Amino acid sequence: DDLVMLEQLDAPLIAHCLQKRYAADKIYTWVGADHSVLISINPFKHLPIYGQYFLERFAAPAPNRDVEPHTYALARRAFRGMMDARRDQAILISGESGAGKTEATKQCLHFLADAAGTKSGVEQRILQANPILEAFGNAKTVRNDNSSRFGRWMEVHFESSGRVEGQIAGAFVESYLLEKSRVVAQAAGERSFHIFYQLCSSPRAAGLGLRPASEHRSLGRAGCTAIRGVDDVADFEAVLSSLAAMGLGDDEVGWALRLCAASVHLCDLDFEPCDGGDGSRVAAGSATPLAAAAECLGVATSALSAALVERAVVVRGEAQRIRNTAGKAEEASAALAKAAYAGLFRDLVRRINAACGGERGRLIGVLDIFGFEIFEANSFEQLCINFANERLQRTFCEHTFENEQASAAPRPHLPAQAVYADEGIAYDNVPYIDNAPVLALLAERPFGLLNLLDEEVRVPQGSDAKWLEKVSQRHADHPAFGAPKQQGKARRDFFCVRHYAGEVRYSADGLVEKNADRLSRGLYDLLSGSSCGLTRACFPPKDDAIAGRVRTVGEEWRSQLGGLMQKVGRMSPLFIRCVKPNQHKRPGLVESKATIDQLSCAGLFEAVRIRATGFPFRHSHAEFARRYRWIA
Ligand code: ATP
Ligand code: MG
Repeated sequence: DDLVMLEQLDAPLIAHCLQKRYAADKIYTWVGADHSVLISINPFKHLPIYGQYFLERFAAPAPNRDVEPHTYALARRAFRGMMDARRDQAILISGESGAGKTEATKQCLHFLADAAGTKSGVEQRILQANPILEAFGNAKTVRNDNSSRFGRWMEVHFESSGRVEGQIAGAFVESYLLEKSRVVAQAAGERSFHIFYQLCSSPRAAGLGLRPASEHRSLGRAGCTAIRGVDDVADFEAVLSSLAAMGLGDDEVGWALRLCAASVHLCDLDFEPCDGGDGSRVAAGSATPLAAAAECLGVATSALSAALVERAVVVRGEAQRIRNTAGKAEEASAALAKAAYAGLFRDLVRRINAACGGERGRLIGVLDIFGFEIFEANSFEQLCINFANERLQRTFCEHTFENEQASAAPRPHLPAQAVYADEGIAYDNVPYIDNAPVLALLAERPFGLLNLLDEEVRVPQGSDAKWLEKVSQRHADHPAFGAPKQQGKARRDFFCVRHYAGEVRYSADGLVEKNADRLSRGLYDLLSGSSCGLTRACFPPKDDAIAGRVRTVGEEWRSQLGGLMQKVGRMSPLFIRCVKPNQHKRPGLVESKATIDQLSCAGLFEAVRIRATGFPFRHSHAEFARRYRWIA
């Protein structure tokens, strides 16, 4: 049950052991006796190890018996840690797409809700947030039929004193980097967010001007509208009842669905050039989707079409209107569709927080965030995601390799070796990959790749090519950076970053625009003037004075991530490392190489070794005394 108990600790043996356990349906394995690191290998089939019986069994483990590895056991460890050591706990879940992060998140939340439920039913609301977040934030991808296209940090708060100590007081969820480009288009065989297909197959579709999903450009073009084993109609009912549980009235639900429908209609618009190609107008054949989009957004049809074919720019302090070419108008329409949907998603998260509110006392946080991504074509999204994974890996390294010590302990931030030396314990230094240089390359002020990308958004006439030129010069000698190579006449817009998990080739094409994520002022103002309260709430009127300096997507993300990491730094971390044993979603099959790659990317082999060499438990003197005094 615990890899650290193996007599020999080389990678092949560890992999072999995990494989044998997997074959016996033992998908969970501990790394270390303190039960703060758990490996989980996706079974791709239902195992009878969840549900009420097991929740209770893990809530009260048999005395004198080792605790079997399980997500419930890890959640219990978090709960006990919070109650006994009086420290907030962070469960950090990582792994590639389809490895089982979201399932693990749900299991942890389930355990906590069951172990610390109340009479007020707040834990039920917390669980009911899930169908909403998944319907609006998950989609079918080639890797996972229910892939989370946003990251989330979920906090469960507990009463910290009195008779109700340890009971759930509320919850808070923060979402990151919603992949809103999916609203407009998807790769072949993928779908947009689940909610669109649910909506199209519901009786509400007709009232919103929606036809079957396959007839809408943004939903049907990728050639996939249904998922085997998924009942969109039934799921929609679950979403509606969850929305009601969050306190959304019928009108509010109606408006939310209208915003979804608006995104679909906007993507169905065609534009045609006029006046010799300088300008454009909505094509005659698009009158129906135009009217439907305007109706759903709560704005006048003429105002919508005008805002799409023109944009305001400021030239030497003077506002001027410029006409959009047909191509530009199409971009504006797509930008509006994405912005409307992202605004809706933000608002739903806000509503969930309002309904589950109660940020007080101690807390257990659960992080479910996209794993490391290496695709054929990597762009801004991957850069942001991989940056986050570097940060998480850093936390894992600190926890395992450098400072296994709780910060409450007497010598915080002391590297493990120093502690051992101090205690007079012989200790073999296990080498591991330190990813600090990559983090610096990506986001160290002022010349990190992402920092310079923000600069490029702000300077006049900034461009992908100029940015690439700058970073290539600045970081030419950086060990983790691969400058673009000239290959014959091939365009030189690729660069490489050597991440801890492998080398990734990114394309610079479109980075600046994606980082800027601009919605024209005219479109924004149009939405702030909507007749629909929800739309107005998503797009509050902008104050001209502060409108000048907008935050880039990258800045927003780094600030969210920085805040999160600061929070997590004060908490006791627990890790679930999810592994995807094969790419075919097939039960029982372990593809060795890919699996070993995942384990080694996650630093697990070193972690096993270091934990076997070291000592798993580290208490401060005070904590130790409190806990064991009675024995003396
Ligand atoms: P993404 O990054 O794409 O969101 P993920 O890591 O969150 O991926 P999940 O959605 O949790 O992956 O899991 C993918 C699928 O694998 C699930 O829909 C489910 O079918 C299966 N699965 C994962 N964990 C388990 C489990 N413990 N038992 C049974 N099936 C599982
Ligand atoms: Mg997920």
